[in-house]
Amino acid sequence: MKTFPMFLQMRGRRVVIAGGGEQAAQKCRLILKTEAKITILAVALDPELADLHATGRIDWQTGPITPDSFADTALVFIASGCPGLDASLHKLAKAAGATVNVVDQPDLCDALTPSIVDRSPVVVAIGTEGTAPVLARQIKTKLETLLEPRLGDLASIAGRLRDRAAMRLGARDRRDLWRWVFNGPVRDAHATGAERKAAMMIKEAIDTGSFKEPQTGSVALVGAGPGAKDLITLRGVKRLQEADVIYYDRLVDPEILDLARRDAERVYVGKAPGCHHWPQDKICNVIVSAAQQGKRVVRLKCGDPGVFARGREEADALNAANIPYEIVPGVTSASAASAAIGGFLTERGTCDTLVFATGQSEDPNKAPGWVATLRPGTRVAVYMGVGSAEKIVTHLQAAGLANRIEVDIVANAQRPEQVVAQCRVNTLLATLARDSISSPAILFLTWPSQPALRVAIS
Ligand code: SAH
Repeated sequence: MKTFPMFLQMRGRRVVIAGGGEQAAQKCRLILKTEAKITILAVALDPELADLHATGRIDWQTGPITPDSFADTALVFIASGCPGLDASLHKLAKAAGATVNVVDQPDLCDALTPSIVDRSPVVVAIGTEGTAPVLARQIKTKLETLLEPRLGDLASIAGRLRDRAAMRLGARDRRDLWRWVFNGPVRDAHATGAERKAAMMIKEAIDTGSFKEPQTGSVALVGAGPGAKDLITLRGVKRLQEADVIYYDRLVDPEILDLARRDAERVYVGKAPGCHHWPQDKICNVIVSAAQQGKRVVRLKCGDPGVFARGREEADALNAANIPYEIVPGVTSASAASAAIGGFLTERGTCDTLVFATGQSEDPNKAPGWVATLRPGTRVAVYMGVGSAEKIVTHLQAAGLANRIEVDIVANAQRPEQVVAQCRVNTLLATLARDSISSPAILFLTWPSQPALRVAIS
């Protein structure tokens, strides 16, 4: 290690930034997160710094710069934007014995600014000794997804309750308590916004020792999004990382499963269209029984778990067994498909009603209800429509709409094998055949007096 990471005490200390432009503003933004007093040395300030000065958040000195300008500082940043001037300012700061960081000149730096993941008071600093800043940022991005935004508040609550725990519990129990707090229901409750509840749970656990009881299992019905690994929510990733067992569907991309803990059990419960390998009641039974064994279960579904995902059956089974569950939303295929073709699902003034419909109907001889909703101003997103395209065409022909309604087809939206096509209903079957389009796909049906969904195809 050529550099050594330490956390500097900043409360009430002085930080001097030499420079009044964008580079100086960048450093200023960083230091404003601390409790240090900031002094800017510059003849002129850019608008952001001028605003901070006007609101009294920073001091500004315009006079000549001497070593005294840098005396009694926790840190000095040299950021004039001019390398020659920076080198001279560096000499003055060193003459005052300051710890100095010179922007973009690692050789002149006593201290390097790390990439920071800020969940204050939990702070992660990542450094590469100047060798690979891009790598540091990639690590930061990974950690940002791992650490929920409210984690710092939970650490603060823990900090306030440390004395209470120390008064009532021995060292070993305290360790178990905090392990339970940061890796169990308290953290979950807190992450979803139930801060008071989380604090109450910790207090109760300290007073009653309840954290020593065996954990009850839980289930999260998690939306994996349309397939791309970066279209799952942060909460979804967190649940995956906590899971002991994951039951996943056919359309869940294997890349998403890579986000789970390596030792988590992964169980495929896919249903290929028309062949129900895993009947729904069997899926309900396995998730209930895993949770009853005290496991943290993730039921991972493609898209959003609330859209054509049989979520209700699973929730009913969990309710009947008295097992707590949580629904973690995901990007539903209609959103993903529309975005993939540069479209907007609704548009002020021209498309004010959006219908999510399924192409599968209980009675294929009867026109599905959504056919009657087609009118100007309404867009229908048909899920599971490829397999029943023939029926859809027949029903729309019978309704006299086949020549009128435009169809945007997006298959495998947001995946490498994405295919898009556009046609009218009367040429839908030919288009599907011509472009070899198969499931999974969304069919957007649009009345042409409103703009077609697609505005740009990349
Ligand atoms: N819960 C899912 C829908 C499951 S039903 C969601 O919210 O998206 C299965 C249907 O979803 C497929 O038949 C197809 O219509 C659609 N679908 C799933 N993944 C898709 C994708 N990547 N591109 C287009 N459609 C998709």
